[in-house]
Order: sequence, then structure tokens, then C-alpha cells
Amino acid sequence: MEHCVFCKIVRGELPSRKVWETENLLAFEDIRPQAPVHVLLIPKKHIVSTQDVGEEDRALMGELHVTIAQVATKLNIAETGYRVVANTGFHGQQTVGHLHYHILGGRQMGWPPG
Ligand code: 5GP
Ligand code: ZN
Repeated sequence: MEHCVFCKIVRGELPSRKVWETENLLAFEDIRPQAPVHVLLIPKKHIVSTQDVGEEDRALMGELHVTIAQVATKLNIAETGYRVVANTGFHGQQTVGHLHYHILGGRQMGWPPG
């Protein structure tokens, strides 16, 4: 069994504020929000990062991508727009080793990212 923090959230061993849940996916509020809306969308399957997505994950990743729009609509940021971020590895400043997509919205974003 994975000791990863997001796997614990998936299993209900750690609390989270869930905003979306299906058989294969979970979205929950980030514990340190960086925008008025800051949700993490994850596959329940423990995949470490974008670099670890395999051929066997094609359907799962398609499902995840379709879900981004559904979550954004539910959170009322679809019309104003939002940002989707997947930090990967050291230079990407990934801090949790379970694939996750930040969905950020509710304010104007800047570019380039830091
Ligand atoms: P990363 O830095 O890997 O791209 O993003 C990890 C994110 O997970 C951070 O934004 C951090 O605030 C969030 N996070 C870390 N631990 C927890 C937790 O236990 N619960 C929740 N809801 N978010 C967490
Ligand atoms: Zn995990």
C-alpha cells in the first residue's frame, strides 16, 4: 500500500475537501490555495508524475482531461478562464510524488511563471 499523502486522501485516511469524485478520479481543494479557486485533480491510481504516464493510462488520462472542463464549470471559473499546471520533478518544483493537476482560477494569472 502506498504511503503517499494523496493516496491517503483517496483512501479517506486523511481528510480533504472534495469537489469531484468518480471511480478513477478525485478533485479536492489545495490545502495552501494560491488563488481564490485552487483545486487538485488526480487519478486515484498512484502515478508519480507526467513522466510516469504509460500507454496503459491512455483512457484514464483522457478521462482526466475531459474532467478538467467539468470541474472548472462546477467551480464557476469556466467563463473567466483558469490555469492548469502539472509540476514535474526537480526543476518543475513538484513536492508531492503523485500525479496532480492544479486547477487555478478566480483571479488574473501572470506569465511567465516563476
Ligand atoms: P506540487 O508542489 O507537487 O506541484 O503540488 C502539491 C500541492 O499539494 C501543493 O499545492 C500543496 O499545497 C498541496 N498539498 C500538500 N499536502 C496536501 C494535503 O495534505 N492536502 C491537500 N488538500 N493539499 C496538499
Ligand atoms: Zn499516491
